[in-house]
Amino acid sequence: MSCLICAGRAETIDCMEGWEERFCSQCGRYRMSQALVLTLMDQGQIFDTGQMRRWLEAQRCAVPVPFIDAHQALLAQ
Ligand SMILES: [Zn+2]
Repeated sequence: MSCLICAGRAETIDCMEGWEERFCSQCGRYRMSQALVLTLMDQGQIFDTGQMRRWLEAQRCAVPVPFIDAHQALLAQ
C-alpha cells in the first residue's frame, strides 16, 4: 500500500475500524480516519507533505502514533 500523505511506499498496519494505519519510511507511523481519506479523494485534495511531516513529528512527543482526522489535515493550497 502507499502512504496516504506522500504516496510513497508504506506498510499497512491493522487497526480499529474506521481508521487506516500506515508506516511510511518518510512520514513515520500514523493513523488516518477513513472518512478523511474519502473526503480528500472526493475533492481531489492532497496533503501538504512537508507540513504534515512536521506536525506528525511534533505530535510524537506526546503520542507514539498520531491520529489524523479532518481537523488536523494540512492540505496543499
Ligand atoms: Zn509518507
